[in-house]
Amino acid sequence: PVVLGIESSCDETGAGLVRDGVLLGHAVASSMEEHARYGGVVPEIAARAHVQAMAPVVQEALGRAGLTLADVGAVAVTAGPGLSGALQVGVAAAKGYAYSLGVPLYGVHHLAGHVAAATLDGGPLPNPSVVLIVSGGHTSLLLVRDLARDPIVHLGDTLDDAAGECFDKVARILHLPYPGGPAVDRAARDGDPAAVRLPRPLSGPNDPPYAFSFSGLKTAAARWVEGRRAAGTEPHVPDAAAALQEAIADTLTRKAVRACTDHGIDTLVVVGGVAANSRVRALTEQRCAAAGITLRVPALGLCTDNGAMVAAIGDLLVRSGAGPAPMDLSVDPSAPLEYAALTPRATAR
Ligand code: ATP
Ligand code: MG
Ligand code: FE
Repeated sequence: PVVLGIESSCDETGAGLVRDGVLLGHAVASSMEEHARYGGVVPEIAARAHVQAMAPVVQEALGRAGLTLADVGAVAVTAGPGLSGALQVGVAAAKGYAYSLGVPLYGVHHLAGHVAAATLDGGPLPNPSVVLIVSGGHTSLLLVRDLARDPIVHLGDTLDDAAGECFDKVARILHLPYPGGPAVDRAARDGDPAAVRLPRPLSGPNDPPYAFSFSGLKTAAARWVEGRRAAGTEPHVPDAAAALQEAIADTLTRKAVRACTDHGIDTLVVVGGVAANSRVRALTEQRCAAAGITLRVPALGLCTDNGAMVAAIGDLLVRSGAGPAPMDLSVDPSAPLEYAALTPRATAR
């Protein structure tokens, strides 16, 4: 069947259509600009924006796919993790589509969606694969077998901030525009990464090999900036951006490649918003090539939040024979990543 995927966990409203692993069309609307003056996502504003954007985004995705609602055979929706009010809008909309079309509903984990995005670019993932998921709220190294059936094994997670959070927070300190990650990426083009010395957290011989920590890196960058300002000189933003980006890319890619070689796995998958970073992409390519590892990174537009990835994991669940979610499917704003299917019930809370 054609699976309609709906995403609304943060500030992107996304809809996508996937059939048998093939992306037929998708559309994304973002309320990012409405949050810019607050320097971060405002939950109430995000939820209201999802209400306004939902039906038009679904129609736009259908139009791009050359389909109508009558072609939809199943609906998948992000049920968590994310902002509660934002998730509620997507889940309510998905129930409405599923109920009115008489098709099954699937609740999915947002991060499993990020992983499934990689299947839309180059087909099914080898079983097993090592997955580096790097986003605004999460940074983990995972061992993924059958994404639709098997539990996801966490090799390591961040002990504090996510990599995207580190990009965003340091961008603010550097007075770069919101959102910070893409702004650091742009500023870094004209910078010298060697001009500022920043640490490589948890990379000593006695540190946990697959765990991450980014709050110390953020503090080190902040101290350098403050030191400059205290001395009466404005920090050179491109240099600071390049150094931060290099420290994050170096740490992420070194640990990800090590996870592959340690486990004898020859495919690395990199997903999530930070996988859109140009230096993360370039350095992973370089290090994977040197280690004989096949790299799978989704196209840029499939790295940040979108509905295509939700449709992709929904399609995998449907084809694996997984049962649909109950119609009293609820949201789980802090759902841990264990299984791709996420079916919390309203009655359970
Ligand atoms: P999560 O998926 O953990 O719930 P999220 O959905 O908010 O969080 P994503 O949309 O996957 O996160 O990614 C957004 C993050 O990616 C932000 O932190 C953003 O700054 C970062 N990001 C996006 N593009 C780039 C880039 N080119 N360079 C660095 N970071 C980037
Ligand atoms: Mg976003
Ligand atoms: Fe995300």
